[in-house]
Amino acid sequence: EETIKQLKEQIREVPDFPIKGIAFQDIFSLLKSPVLLKTVINLLIEDAKSFGTNVDIVLGLDARGFLIGPSVAMALNAGFVPVRKGGKLPGDTISHSFEKEYGKDVFEIQKDSIEKGQNVLIIDDLIATGGTMLAACELVKALGGNLIGCQLMIELPSLKGIERVTKVFKGIPFKVLINY
Ligand code: IMP
Repeated sequence: EETIKQLKEQIREVPDFPIKGIAFQDIFSLLKSPVLLKTVINLLIEDAKSFGTNVDIVLGLDARGFLIGPSVAMALNAGFVPVRKGGKLPGDTISHSFEKEYGKDVFEIQKDSIEKGQNVLIIDDLIATGGTMLAACELVKALGGNLIGCQLMIELPSLKGIERVTKVFKGIPFKVLINY
C-alpha cells in the first residue's frame, strides 16, 4: 500500500557495498526521519502481534536487529535478547558459524538468555540468503526455546532466504514488511 511504498522510497540502495556486486539496502536513510521511524516501528509491532502467540523473548540479530527489537519487545511485554557476532558476549555462550550474502560469520548467544520452552520471536532488518536467520534459529533450538516466528523489515525475495530457513525449520511463520 501507500505507506509501504513511502518507506521503500526512503531506503537508499548503495551499489558495491560492502563488496563489489552487492546492492546494499541502507535503512539508515529511513530511520533518520522522525515520522518514518515511528511508522516503521509501529508497523513492525502490528506484524509481531499478528503472529498471535504470546512472546516471551524477542531475539534481535547483530547489529541492525538491535535497533528494532527492543521497541517491538516492549510493545509485546516481552524481554529482549541479543545474538552477537563472535567474541562480543561475556559469560557462557554457545556459537554457530554460517555463510551470508557476503562472507562467513559466527553468531553467539548467552546460555542463560533463553529458558527451555520460552516463546521466542526473532527479528532482523533484512533477509538475503537466509544464512543469518538460519543460524539464529539454530541457536534458539540449541537452548530449547520455542521458536514462534521470524520477522524482517526487508526481504530480498530473489535470494530465497525464507525458503532456505523454512526447509530446515518447517512451518515456521515469517512476516516481512517490505519486498524488493
Ligand atoms: P543473509 O544471511 O544473506 O540473509 O544476510 C542477512 C544479514 O546481512 C542481515 O543481518 C542483514 O542485516 C545483512 N544484510 C545483507 N544484505 C543487506 C543489505 O542489502 N542491506 C542491509 N543489510 C544487509
